[in-house]
Amino acid sequence: MSMTRRKLLNLGGRTALGLSLVGFARQGATAADAETFAVTHSDAEWRKLLTAGQYDILRREGTEPPFSSPLNHEKRDGIFSCAGCALPLFSSTTKFDSGTGWPSFWRPLENAVGESRDNSFMMARTEVHCRQCGGHLGHVFDDGPKPTGLRYCMNGVALNFTQA
Ligand SMILES: [Zn+2]
Repeated sequence: MSMTRRKLLNLGGRTALGLSLVGFARQGATAADAETFAVTHSDAEWRKLLTAGQYDILRREGTEPPFSSPLNHEKRDGIFSCAGCALPLFSSTTKFDSGTGWPSFWRPLENAVGESRDNSFMMARTEVHCRQCGGHLGHVFDDGPKPTGLRYCMNGVALNFTQA
């Protein structure tokens, strides 16, 4: 009897934990999932279209190692567009050196990105994704320079640069 009860409790506990872990892991993507995107592909198609690195960032909300992107040092005039769907996202005129090791901008182009709450890793952050394909780009913080005071901290591997 008590064995049975303990077994049930254990099962219950395991189920509850499993559910909460799933909820925890997916929290960051919830808002983006509710949006509809003009460019959509199946997971298998994305895997074919993107490099392994791009897929990990754009489709799995990964984060590239700091100082790993050549775009950190990109200072020419031009446009940074989504590596997933080629939508122009940022202008070089809003790029600045944040010292963080990730390409940083103080403002995206108009209608270029969407945002969602991201509570992963026990931090309340604002996730930034491409408005057209939903690809994860990075996060936005409120410690940026003037005029917006925002810092769009982007994964360079999620962006392609085109010189003006
Ligand atoms: Zn995109």
